[in-house]
Amino acid sequence: MFATPAVETWISPSGRVGTVALDQDPVALEALRDMMRAQGYTLQNEEAGEAAGTAVSGEIINPGQGTIDTSVTPDVDERDLTIVQRTTDVTPEEVDWAAGNLAHLSTTYHDVKTDRQAVDVRSGGRLWRSACRIVMLTDDNGVEQFRVVLYKGATIADVTDADEVIEQAKAGYFLRHGWDRIEDFNGSPRYLFAEYRRVDGRTSEPALVCDEPQCSEGWHSVIEDHCAEEMLSRTTGARYEIRVRRPVAEAAAPWQVEVYADDFMGTPEQVAAFMNDLSWCQQACVAANAKRTKVVAA
Ligand SMILES: [Zn+2]
Repeated sequence: MFATPAVETWISPSGRVGTVALDQDPVALEALRDMMRAQGYTLQNEEAGEAAGTAVSGEIINPGQGTIDTSVTPDVDERDLTIVQRTTDVTPEEVDWAAGNLAHLSTTYHDVKTDRQAVDVRSGGRLWRSACRIVMLTDDNGVEQFRVVLYKGATIADVTDADEVIEQAKAGYFLRHGWDRIEDFNGSPRYLFAEYRRVDGRTSEPALVCDEPQCSEGWHSVIEDHCAEEMLSRTTGARYEIRVRRPVAEAAAPWQVEVYADDFMGTPEQVAAFMNDLSWCQQACVAANAKRTKVVAA
């Protein structure tokens, strides 16, 4: 539609080039710029930046349009979510394809006012939010690019993660690694990467599929623990939680027993139950580590 896309160019501390679309709400645009500055990005073309306050022309991303909006709703089943999958190795073919088709593409950032979408993930009842979507597309000027569409509430960490996802895509982590071909638009394919983040207040790290066979949970933040066994008492006055855990981020870490018993004042029967559960978890921990040793030795 317009020969010259209205963008300003930002350079990351590591030298990556990103462009910010100026054809968006001025308040959202300024928030996005603050985020880029806070992340250490520097603006390359100052003149374009000054003109931005009044720039409203050009292609406008409309998240309500439906064609590339795959926002989740509170009713979505977790099996329908796109999951961050960074544990599979790339093949030489994937590396070659990405080098030829993706490595040279620039990134455009859009900030939209859409509320972040919360999802109740049914395994564990944890809440997740969609911080952004990342699309690889061909724009109206025929320019292939990555486009990061940040939802309201997105943070600097979300921008950093989006950049990292794009860098990984350029290194070959594309179609088998969380990207979906969502449609052919004007004869060009569009690819979507949707990332989900926790909103339950405990962490906002990226989500990963659990690949620990002994773990009872399907999903994790990268800073969480695997959990092989769990015994809980919710009895008032005699509460305790016992878990067999090991950190997700440390592949070599052994299973250990974690005990949390705040304000425990129990009857002899409750103490017996506690000791029984503790003993059960101790044995489960021994068994989990024995299985683990076999796997490592195999
Ligand atoms: Zn796990």
